[in-house]
Amino acid sequence: MQQMLIDGGSSVSVIDCLEKQMPFWDKTLEVMVATHPDSDHIGGLSNVLESYIVPLIITNQQTKETADFDRFQQAVTRQVATGGNHLIGSEGFHFMLDNNVDVSILNPSYDQAQSVSWVSQKSETLLSAVETQSVPADTDYNNQSVVMMVSFNQLDILLTGDLETSGEQALLRKNLINEVEVLKVGHHGAKTSTSPEFIAKTSPEISVISVGKNNRYGHPNAEVITQLEESGSLILRTDQVSTFTLSSDGRTIWRDQPLSVPRLKVLIANWLKNLVFFKTQTKTGSRF
Ligand SMILES: [Zn+2]
Repeated sequence: MQQMLIDGGSSVSVIDCLEKQMPFWDKTLEVMVATHPDSDHIGGLSNVLESYIVPLIITNQQTKETADFDRFQQAVTRQVATGGNHLIGSEGFHFMLDNNVDVSILNPSYDQAQSVSWVSQKSETLLSAVETQSVPADTDYNNQSVVMMVSFNQLDILLTGDLETSGEQALLRKNLINEVEVLKVGHHGAKTSTSPEFIAKTSPEISVISVGKNNRYGHPNAEVITQLEESGSLILRTDQVSTFTLSSDGRTIWRDQPLSVPRLKVLIANWLKNLVFFKTQTKTGSRF
């Protein structure tokens, strides 16, 4: 059984989520991905790094001058000092979970020479050499989100972080996107993401929107919702259904339904946690 956590929401509450999902004896979270350094995505991850062994931590190249990012950076540095690996995620990298769940990184795309880890305090000179993007929010900032395709037999799940329209366009231009069964809708359903072209190309059966109730940004955008509905996609919003799980045997997708067949389990939690958690159990007959 292997687990992967993508983003950790803004607070320590991510730990409750993990404790419910991980067996009590399992203190190894195989992969952690921080899609980008905004606090609503990485705020809870330092707590996770303090509670679990995380052999592989994937982030993008960006850093951010916030207390949350400082804590995260220090926690990543400590993991690396005790044997963990920090990888700057970049297009073309892929790995397997439990030998049959393929995870491909589609974005951002960095030159290999640019892939410099920011974990070590000594890396400051390296970081300035590659112009690490410690920048405030603008459209290009979200477009460096780590985007991943998770594939298990016939099931494809696309996770776009806070990617916006121009980032989506780049993926379409590079022909990296095909039809998917599940789309984690970009940037909490904001109108700056999920263009009609992107919906047409991905044609998701299920669209997942991680968004808080009555959030001050007005996410998700009504037009985005309408376009997804018109495409025939089932929309699951965490402000309406809170935390939920999807399970799949690689063909069929079930919602909130325990199964005893080999499957991939995906937990999607609400905006405050803002996380996607994958758990594989691919041995026939084994229980989760
Ligand atoms: Zn966000």
